Amino acid sequence: MSLETLTAAIRDIPDFPKPGIMFKDISPILQDGALFAEVIDIIGARYENLQIDSIVVIDARGFIFGSALAYKLGCGISLVRKQGKLPWKTHSVSYDLEYGSAAVEIHIDAVSAGDRVLIVDDLLATGGTAKAGADLIEKIGARIIALEFVIELSSLNGRDKLDGYTVNSLIEVSD
Ligand code: AMP
Repeated sequence: MSLETLTAAIRDIPDFPKPGIMFKDISPILQDGALFAEVIDIIGARYENLQIDSIVVIDARGFIFGSALAYKLGCGISLVRKQGKLPWKTHSVSYDLEYGSAAVEIHIDAVSAGDRVLIVDDLLATGGTAKAGADLIEKIGARIIALEFVIELSSLNGRDKLDGYTVNSLIEVSD
């Protein structure tokens, strides 16, 4: 797979979910079995020798890529969900949105102190969501080996918010 093929499979939808946002729709990647598998194989190759204990997957599209990756790496997944969705005892972290704030949660026993975890989401924008996910893992005392994104919107500098962590993305786009 060339990165051009992957980039071409991302559908740009202007002004969704609100004016001024260019939404990166990854549905066409998921609909193409060969392309989806290649994405997982390429990302998986980065981590196959890194003894990942758990992939922490971010609500909701992170679940899709993270689950396939977990199968590839032979590990489990741990869910980071938006507030109010998880049924068991949780840790919670709030973070700022453009207007207002949001919170994400993880079950207190989703991972253990010292576990080697990989955080996965489909897209890195401002980095607020991923940083909140990382903060949840830090609360538990697990080790964040890396954060992995299929798409990075580089103009939003989300990496800066994740300073000190290894941040990988498959493709960088500037808009
Ligand atoms: P952020 O916290 O700003 O890094 O936003 C990342 C989260 O919001 C990810 O879970 C993405 O799925 C979603 N997201 C943010 N911006 C976009 C976008 N332009 N297109 C698609 N998803 C986005």
